[in-house]
Amino acid sequence: RSKEDVVLRVDELRKTFGGLVATDDASFEVERGTITGLIGPNGAGKSTLFNLVSGFYEPEAGRVEVNGTDVTGAAPHEVAEHGLVRTFQTPRKLEGMTVREAMLVGPQRQAGESFFALFTATDAVTSEERTNLEDAHRMLEEFGIGDLARQPATDLSGGQMKLVELARAMLADPEILLLDEPVAGVNPTLANTLAEHIERLNEAGTTFLVIEHDMEFIMNLADPIIVLDQGHVLTEGTPESVRSDERVIDAYLGG
Ligand code: ADP
Ligand code: MG
Repeated sequence: RSKEDVVLRVDELRKTFGGLVATDDASFEVERGTITGLIGPNGAGKSTLFNLVSGFYEPEAGRVEVNGTDVTGAAPHEVAEHGLVRTFQTPRKLEGMTVREAMLVGPQRQAGESFFALFTATDAVTSEERTNLEDAHRMLEEFGIGDLARQPATDLSGGQMKLVELARAMLADPEILLLDEPVAGVNPTLANTLAEHIERLNEAGTTFLVIEHDMEFIMNLADPIIVLDQGHVLTEGTPESVRSDERVIDAYLGG
């Protein structure tokens, strides 16, 4: 694969917690334009890998490249500036904010420097910050939830929170978006809606790397699929080939 075709390259990444090896020489590439799945049994190291790639953890060894640039050890906002953004498995605290204000929290490519003024002195809101709020509102409308913009963020249902989290991440205008269990605890109807949004955004040019526990969901959405087991890549391939791979079946059954 040529350099232009690879949006994320992970090379022999390693991360331990005390004596526990969470990420063990993990290597893979994500091809531009794909929806790539990342699966593996509980504790395989999927979330740790996301934290390493997005700058929330520093690897003990190995290398992360985004769009051909070495971002190993860079801070989350720097990684985001290079085009890689991630969502969280469990959304952060949003107390005291409206939904559209909550949209502006996090590593952003486009955020103003002092958006915290939004929460302290309304009169001090600059025109740039006002533009950001308008962008947030517009993005919510793109996701069919514009009516939630002025509601308290704490009033959202679990499913609405997942939609807002996806919309928030898209505000940063990512080239590759990492989603950690986007449909965990979400009802089937909303899971379908989320899948449709992911496919819509992918067709418009965003590459996705998606961790998902729901096998049916990820097999329908993603291709290729990377299988992680005990911190390293066990295999990679089409949903069909991964589904029938003995080693994958053993990893899930063996636990
Ligand atoms: P997955 O997302 O695939 O379920 P994780 O990346 O969350 O797996 O965890 C991989 C392993 O690392 C697990 O054994 C987990 O208990 C351990 N682990 C993850 N985060 C931490 C942490 N902050 N401190 C200690 N151990 C951790
Ligand atoms: Mg996890």
